[in-house]
Amino acid sequence: MIEKLLSAVKENTTKEVVLNVIVNMLLALILIDISCFEDYGSPMHMIGPHTSIAGGIQNAVIQAYELGASAFGMFTKNQRQWVAKPLEEEMIFLFTDTMKKLGFSSDQVLVHDSYLINLGNPDSEKREKSLNAFIDELKRVEQLGLTLLNFHPGSHVNQIEAKDSLHLVAQSLDIALSETESAIAVIENTAGQGSNLGSSFEELAYLLEHCTHQDRIGFCIDTCHAHAAGYDMSTPETFESAIQRFDELIGLNRLRGMHLNDAKSEKGSHLDRHESLGKGTIGWPTFEYIAKDERFASIPLVLETINSEIWKEEVQHLRFEVWK
Ligand SMILES: [Zn+2]
Ligand SMILES: [Zn+2]
Repeated sequence: MIEKLLSAVKENTTKEVVLNVIVNMLLALILIDISCFEDYGSPMHMIGPHTSIAGGIQNAVIQAYELGASAFGMFTKNQRQWVAKPLEEEMIFLFTDTMKKLGFSSDQVLVHDSYLINLGNPDSEKREKSLNAFIDELKRVEQLGLTLLNFHPGSHVNQIEAKDSLHLVAQSLDIALSETESAIAVIENTAGQGSNLGSSFEELAYLLEHCTHQDRIGFCIDTCHAHAAGYDMSTPETFESAIQRFDELIGLNRLRGMHLNDAKSEKGSHLDRHESLGKGTIGWPTFEYIAKDERFASIPLVLETINSEIWKEEVQHLRFEVWK
């Protein structure tokens, strides 16, 4: 019966209000089963994959719950399109209600913006388009009662110097933050592939220095990107020295999330190729270290690993088995 109801909810695209009753019944039923991980002790970290909004944004929450996750990443619209339909009141209600019923709060969710946005584009018309889309992303986060919007700094598209492009990103961020209320712009480090900005902590720090709304700027370290950018993530010791460097330049208090991804690519290759945890050039010890480190207990640790069929095991390993 639970499966039937779940798939009914997942297939729902427009009639959110009608299905709200079903969602409530469904949530009541699955909450009965809430104590399934009790035997493992008391995990503290917030860990989970980037889940899917196919069929409705509330499905991201349901999928995270089904996977035994205590955090998740999500988009609030199709990430490959510029424009999305505005969030309707019913959709917002359905999302926030599902969050509440399944016991998730906003600090467990790291929203990712569209892949198309480039706030550092030297072409003013294209940058304007990106800026408008970014403002819309921030507003959607706020409408959903969430806080964190994760994004890649941008690209200089081989037309201007990296520093000049970073200035444009800072400028765009200032405009976007002044036009929104409360969402935090969470800047992610990149692998430095092609003309992408933000592969070094120095560049991220430079960006921060040039923003005036620093109280609403955060950072997300992606382990795969860091490793590909040349920060050795393959042992807890080398991870630690990278984190120390981040702390010196930016401050760990500004770390608002992490992406836990193993890497298919070699250290320093600048190739953004994710791998399942433990199967790449980083390996389990670093992820296990992060999952037990108190400094990372209050931020969402989101998996963007490539095999969704083993997400449940990956989450279970990091949330519970590391403590055994
Ligand atoms: Zn990432
Ligand atoms: Zn990536």
